[in-house]
Amino acid sequence: MRSITTLDLQYAHRFFGFKGEAQYLHGHTGILTIEVEDSIEPGVNMVFPCNEIQKTAWEVLKNFDHALILREDDPLLPAILKVYEEQGIRDGALTNKMKGPAFKTELATAYPECRLVVTKETMTVEGMIKIVYDLLKDKLNIAKITFSSGVNAATQEYQPSRTIDRCPLCGIALNENGVCPKCGYKK
Ligand SMILES: [Zn+2]
Ligand SMILES: [Zn+2]
Repeated sequence: MRSITTLDLQYAHRFFGFKGEAQYLHGHTGILTIEVEDSIEPGVNMVFPCNEIQKTAWEVLKNFDHALILREDDPLLPAILKVYEEQGIRDGALTNKMKGPAFKTELATAYPECRLVVTKETMTVEGMIKIVYDLLKDKLNIAKITFSSGVNAATQEYQPSRTIDRCPLCGIALNENGVCPKCGYKK
């Protein structure tokens, strides 16, 4: 069975080198759907609490929200960093509070202090799915990711290969000692 959650991400990007209107900087509200697959945990009668999937995903993905996403070779990148630098907001601002932990994967690097994500490939809906899977695959039993942004959408299925031990009282993943980090239940 699957538990499914959805989150919104508002971002700006462009397709550098693309011969179409998307080569100009523009913005979207992207809708990300994450499907998590496992057995049903009998105590709570859930695969996984959807709000917990959302919380786990958001912790990392909030770095994409109200962020600028640029490819590493895009000349806008140094130009924008220069402006941020001159404005004194390159290394943070008091109003920039929605920061997740900085991350660096093969596909993307987040600079939460200036709400920037630098990607290796063009950030299409397909590219975003690759980035998200890479960031969350060790945290969630992902069976499918769908990302839509305006009229563009893409989806990818995955084969979850394990089952996660969950708390029969709250449904969230037990830690490596078999203890629930939320209620203290011990297996
Ligand atoms: Zn776009
Ligand atoms: Zn618990």
